Amino acid sequence: MTDLVLALDVGGTKVAGGLVDRGGAVRRSVRVATPLGSAERTWDAVASVVEQVVRGEDVAAVGIASAGPVDAGAGTVSPINVPGWRGFPLRERVSELLPGVPVEVAGDGPCMALGEHWLGAGRDSRFLLGLVVSTGVGGGLVLGGRPFGGRTGNAGHIGHVVVEPDGDPCPCGGRGCAETVAGGPRMVAWARRQGWQAPDGADAALLAAAAGVGEEIPKAAFERAGRAVGLAIAATAAVVDLDLAVVGGGVAQAGGLLFDPIRRTVADHCGLSYLDGLRVEPARLGGQAGLVGAARLVLG
Ligand SMILES: [Zn+2]
Repeated sequence: MTDLVLALDVGGTKVAGGLVDRGGAVRRSVRVATPLGSAERTWDAVASVVEQVVRGEDVAAVGIASAGPVDAGAGTVSPINVPGWRGFPLRERVSELLPGVPVEVAGDGPCMALGEHWLGAGRDSRFLLGLVVSTGVGGGLVLGGRPFGGRTGNAGHIGHVVVEPDGDPCPCGGRGCAETVAGGPRMVAWARRQGWQAPDGADAALLAAAAGVGEEIPKAAFERAGRAVGLAIAATAAVVDLDLAVVGGGVAQAGGLLFDPIRRTVADHCGLSYLDGLRVEPARLGGQAGLVGAARLVLG
């Protein structure tokens, strides 16, 4: 019986796969850009990654991290940024490629949290919120040392905690969600509205570089994003009693520009005694967290 499992991380930007051993080492990994368009074009990329990674080798199980929303029970996924997939039967389709091998699907946020808990910044934590601050803001929970997905597997989707009740519309149908303030493209759009002069195609990395050399509007954009993320963390911590928030994703690469206002906001809003020990730390596994967490899902 093999110890290796196949881990997949499927999102609107990339499809990644790897063979992962019991220690969490990723042995053979493949990553391709996600073809959007028809459901089957996107699926073909997933099938090709599975084939390139497995190459006929035995795998004990398959863990899949998918952009959400997901339905972990049904094994279907409806990623907002993969418009062709609505209720797509990802677990069933992967099972058809590898008959007899158990397959589990979870959200990419929950898998990131699980990966960081297993081998990253959350190793000493039992009650952990993992956040990915990137194009959007996602996340997941590990509670009592176990992944907590909630009813459908989407618990911890912190980007939709409301931080500005009269704020900008969000694709979820609400307004003023943390993602509308702290998602990278939203930060850039806000900075432009305040008068930031930037080339076409400017992204959160360019915004961070400008903030890093002291430009006031970009600095304010990070201050605002950090506050939004900090408020969402504080709200979640008060509800589920956390000891750690681990923050990763492209926007978090800005370091102190984002983490300073997050920590300040958390300190300002977490006055209850049970939140005294709450820490906010940068993620350590980078882009591998989803794959590692997906593997952990099925390694148990
Ligand atoms: Zn929302």
